[in-house]
Amino acid sequence: MSTTRNSKQRDAVLSDLQSRYDHPTAEEVYFSVKKSFPNISLATVYRNLCFLNDEGKIFSISGRDAVHYDAHLHEHNHLLCRTCGRIFDVNICINSSFLDDANTNFNGCVDGYSLLFHGLCNSCNKIN
Ligand SMILES: [Zn+2]
Ligand SMILES: [Zn+2]
Repeated sequence: MSTTRNSKQRDAVLSDLQSRYDHPTAEEVYFSVKKSFPNISLATVYRNLCFLNDEGKIFSISGRDAVHYDAHLHEHNHLLCRTCGRIFDVNICINSSFLDDANTNFNGCVDGYSLLFHGLCNSCNKIN
């Protein structure tokens, strides 16, 4: 496999993720990228997601029974819907003094955090 083809597929994986806000799983990225790259394999998509994650171009969120991906790197938090298992963006402003509290209570250095809220998304909330 040539480098050009590799990087084209990687770019396709990245731009698919950048174009959506639904925090897809590797399989969902695969089905989407497959439309333009019919020969791409799920293993290739996984490999590219790992690479992009290591590079800091995307990040992963562990959901209920799958890992979800997000290419939107601005600081934001997430909610895991307990009914549909999907991940949603939650934009809240958190008082960063809680990092100081964490540092007081942790023997090391705390310099970041990620929050995962639990609840129901809008559509699941309407059904219940
Ligand atoms: Zn839901
Ligand atoms: Zn997000």
